[in-house]
Amino acid sequence: MKNNDRSWTLINLDNFVYNVKNIKKFIGNKAYLQIVKADAYGHGAYQIAKEAIHWGAKFLGVANYQEGVLLRFQKIDIPILILSPSLEAEIVPIVQYNLTPSVQSFDFAKKLNDYAMEVNKRIKIHINVDTGMGRSGFYYDNSYEEILKINSLDNLEIEGIFSHFAASENDKEYTKWQYDRFYKLIKKLPFEPKYLHISNSSGIINLKENFTNLVRIGLLSFGIYTDLDLKKKISLKPVMSFFSKIGHIKTANKGESIGYNRTYIAEKKLKYAILPIGYADGYDFMLSNKGNVYYKNSVCKVLGKISMDMIAIDISKIDNPKVGDTVQLLGDANDKISAEYLTSLYNGSSYELLCQIGRRAKRYYRKEGKFIDSSPLLRRAFVPTDYSPQKLSSIIETAISHRIKSREISTIIYKDFLERFFKEKDKNVHYRENFNHTIEFIKRTDNFFQVKTTLEYEKILTNPYFYVICASNEKILEKFFLDPFVEYRWLLYGDFRLDKKHFEILSVKINDMELNYKQNDYKEYLSVRCFDERLKNIIGKKVKFFISTMTYYPANSHQLSVYINELTKNINISFKYNNLFNKVETVPFFSGKKHFPNISYNNDTVSLKTNPDEWIFPNSGVVFVY
Ligand SMILES: *Cc1c(COP(=O)(O)O)cnc(C)c1O
Repeated sequence: MKNNDRSWTLINLDNFVYNVKNIKKFIGNKAYLQIVKADAYGHGAYQIAKEAIHWGAKFLGVANYQEGVLLRFQKIDIPILILSPSLEAEIVPIVQYNLTPSVQSFDFAKKLNDYAMEVNKRIKIHINVDTGMGRSGFYYDNSYEEILKINSLDNLEIEGIFSHFAASENDKEYTKWQYDRFYKLIKKLPFEPKYLHISNSSGIINLKENFTNLVRIGLLSFGIYTDLDLKKKISLKPVMSFFSKIGHIKTANKGESIGYNRTYIAEKKLKYAILPIGYADGYDFMLSNKGNVYYKNSVCKVLGKISMDMIAIDISKIDNPKVGDTVQLLGDANDKISAEYLTSLYNGSSYELLCQIGRRAKRYYRKEGKFIDSSPLLRRAFVPTDYSPQKLSSIIETAISHRIKSREISTIIYKDFLERFFKEKDKNVHYRENFNHTIEFIKRTDNFFQVKTTLEYEKILTNPYFYVICASNEKILEKFFLDPFVEYRWLLYGDFRLDKKHFEILSVKINDMELNYKQNDYKEYLSVRCFDERLKNIIGKKVKFFISTMTYYPANSHQLSVYINELTKNINISFKYNNLFNKVETVPFFSGKKHFPNISYNNDTVSLKTNPDEWIFPNSGVVFVY
């Protein structure tokens, strides 16, 4: 493969399918849950999920609700089981995104049931019983009573009961003991849930099960043997390979050291190469002086300590090595670079190595011999907290095209709009309602007008603090435009350092609660941090903001602009000028359903108003000219 990457992981989906097919021979007619937690052990949850669903997976298994929500955003709609205990605070998204929590405490079940009642839903859960793993799950001895208690909660449906093996790869006796305990418990219950499951990958190979009907498959599907004994029973191919390139070639003379702390000293003259990957790329530090790299059909030893971003390998035996040549650090090209072998060198875990390898590498997917997909460098997926970008996109695009009656133009407008709206990726959408803004020019003092401003609106509180900014030039002001922590901005031109004399808070309130604030002046702007401990309790709720300031505006300017940079409903903007001018004209630029607000003049005040249920898009505003 030709590419510009310093390192890359290759995910061979054909090998994944090969493994799944072989695993299915062991699971007979039981349903199969594909484990995709931790980004499918570093293989990419989305691509693995898609492939697994195609080959018959009935469930996906994730570690927490965020991993589940992300898959929902990627339009994966089969049941998703959250394997680890969930927190009370996660109940809302769990229900909203139709995820199936595992339950290991009555307290959580009760809260889930309460919420389910509130939203009038019946929620499927799987109960986790600890038969000997000693980790999550109900303690075995009282699990029977707890299950009955949970079963009496009307808005929960116990869809499954499961347990987890502690050592299915190499301790058959203990595994059988856990299995028997699980069986005893299930037999005693007065009802039978739809799904009973206990086996992970190695369990299905090493144990005959006859009453369970679902299995949870992780590591084996990625082609890694949990124990070398399993090789005799099932054939697997590793799915992940990791590659890098020769970055630099050098020679060390006898007695010279290589790397940090001089842990490797050359015994004779040797040629070595530097590869541009290190433990920050997931190449385990424990492979220092131990790891192997496959290069031109030879196994090269790692020399010295693994650095954060580099390693050294011995290439003395290599014929004609060249900077830029590809080398393989993990995969099936040679046994000595298999995850099992590498981790055996430091008594580590293949699970861990797979999760960490290629942390900053681009991932390429190969299927039916072709590259089908790649995920970007620094793969990291964010889950927005309100609604999915795809859903929002399609709503907006359809809305615009209806109005314009042309899909083509609407797409162009929509793209431009989105670019402004989501200038920063992963920015949440904020919106405000009942927006009242008054700007009053009080009197003229030398080169300035003294100005009093008040601003009031309702909005969902997302942080326990926010900022009010006064900037001395447009460039700085712009910087704060998209900052979600800034609630109010004022521009005061001038080549003086802004301080309390120029800009002062008169009052900041949320829901009539006066906040604390702290003013800081910097070179080109002044910021006021507004905060209060009590705000923590109302995060997520709609609150009323009130901000009032005393400041100045240059007298040599003959216009004043007010910008609206968030989606806002029901706007009322007033400019009060106390007979300082004879005439004020207004130039509104409102984008939204209506472009022209209602404008009214009253003595020395001009007011702009929208209808109460009218939304105005960002990048709207008004210029007062006097
Ligand atoms: C991770 C996990 C599995 C998968 O285990 P493998 O050994 O990778 O097959 C199964 N069950 C639970 C509860 C898990 O957390």
